Amino acid sequence: MTDCLFCKIAAGEIPSNKLYEDDTLLAFYDIDPQAPVHFLVIPKQHIESAASLTEKDAALLGHVYAVIARLTQQLGCAGGYRVVTNVGEDGGQSVKHLHFHVLAKRSLAWPPG
Ligand code: 5GP
Ligand code: ZN
Repeated sequence: MTDCLFCKIAAGEIPSNKLYEDDTLLAFYDIDPQAPVHFLVIPKQHIESAASLTEKDAALLGHVYAVIARLTQQLGCAGGYRVVTNVGEDGGQSVKHLHFHVLAKRSLAWPPG
């Protein structure tokens, strides 16, 4: 999508602090970190939010979580981590391109705000 911030980051048109990249996914550090470790995982393909996912995306989602497991291991997040995807206005989604927040290295409160 031409006017999407994360499509531009995925295409390398806007720089990001990349952690991992392959044909389908990109992981990069959040510009406004909410925890000592806070990165985002996005599909390179434009998907608006988790509300648009279907069974056809099962492999993509498995890949997302496998990459998250590997990256958190590499970053030494043995104490655990949280994966969050905000959906729509009430869910607090500000960028309308599916992304998974990964937060770690501090104790995270529950329930979230
Ligand atoms: P949302 O609020 O949609 O769940 O999350 C969007 C996230 O993208 C926010 O945590 C915000 O800090 C991050 N973000 C927004 N613009 C940029 C950017 O240009 N670069 C990076 N690395 N992160 C961004
Ligand atoms: Zn996009």
